Amino acid sequence: VFRSQMPLQTIINPQLVSDLVNSLVTMADESGRHYFERWEIVNAYSGCMLGNPALSVLADAYAKGIRSYDVEKAYRYAVNSSKRFGNDPLGYTPSELCISHTLEYAYADWCISRLAEQLGKREDAALYAAKGQSYRNIFDREKGWFRPRRADGAWEPWPENARTTEWYGCIESNPYQQGWFVPHDVEGLVDLMGGREQFVQMLDSVFVVPPIYDDSYYGFRIHEITEMQVADMGNYAHGNQPAQHMIYLYNYAGAPWKAQYWAREVMDRLYSACPDGYCGDEDNGQTSAWYVFSALGFYSVCPASDEYVVGSPLFRKAVVNLENGNKIVLEAPDNSPENRYIGAVQFDGKSYTYNFLRHSDLVKGAGVRFSMRPDPDYTRGTEPGDAPYSFSRE
Ligand code: CA
Repeated sequence: VFRSQMPLQTIINPQLVSDLVNSLVTMADESGRHYFERWEIVNAYSGCMLGNPALSVLADAYAKGIRSYDVEKAYRYAVNSSKRFGNDPLGYTPSELCISHTLEYAYADWCISRLAEQLGKREDAALYAAKGQSYRNIFDREKGWFRPRRADGAWEPWPENARTTEWYGCIESNPYQQGWFVPHDVEGLVDLMGGREQFVQMLDSVFVVPPIYDDSYYGFRIHEITEMQVADMGNYAHGNQPAQHMIYLYNYAGAPWKAQYWAREVMDRLYSACPDGYCGDEDNGQTSAWYVFSALGFYSVCPASDEYVVGSPLFRKAVVNLENGNKIVLEAPDNSPENRYIGAVQFDGKSYTYNFLRHSDLVKGAGVRFSMRPDPDYTRGTEPGDAPYSFSRE
């Protein structure tokens, strides 16, 4: 891509997103369920997976001004979804998949709070913002990490290799991989872990420990584990969704150059334009979406926050043509395989130290210019104010 003189051109289509949300609402309507199911395939519920993923699609669309559907009805169905699948009444979800359920529901409830706020529903906004903090209820300070809890409040026994035990409270993953899923309040997670230094150390360790696993809970090795081992990046399992935002979290803890390093590693080593070009399931476009965003230089860590978190752009020039006629022009003239680190950023000609880009700024049309360099810049983007959105900082 560096040899190409042609800029990357891509087009964003909000009308399509609006149609998708409309379909979700219509399916909730016509099925008579009046809540959003988790994974609709060919007009039926697949019965798979967990969380309330439709809520983030809805809240993100609304926040971005995509609103050609019955908003009040969609909101009602979102609330119904949370009542049906949520962390009430205990403030966490005791089950074999306690960590995955609880973290997913906490984020989904935060999504409702954002939507409620924009719709002027103040009481709901406060209520669901509080529910969004329920991830704290399964953080065991003694172990320093998330741990499944039983209905009576007791912790589940902590096996010897708890963090790398597949399915220990987690779906298709282990606590080491799933535990980073607090996309709406990374700062809160940093605090729970004892500060930025501990957070960065723990994040580093994911890539350093060997790709070990303990499959005693599930009984056999799932293909996602095989893919983690083939990828050879420690316990970082890019082939599955629980981990795909993890690299970008360095931006929340004053170490953006580490996000830049790993973003480039993953793009270079785990994707190719060959039949085996994916490192795991494509999963409804998510594994490609990660690449498209990351190649542009940023990624949507927390849908509905209006922010994209900066990584390492792959092109010297990329142009995003928006449906409103505006353009986002991303330039990195000295980009190369060696120059993977960001030195300085200019946004519309002005110095820009944040580790995130706002959607609301980009859609007005924007020019973002990255200076790329071969060694990390240990100063840029390290101030607390440079970090992306976290609820705890609001
Ligand atoms: Ca998957």
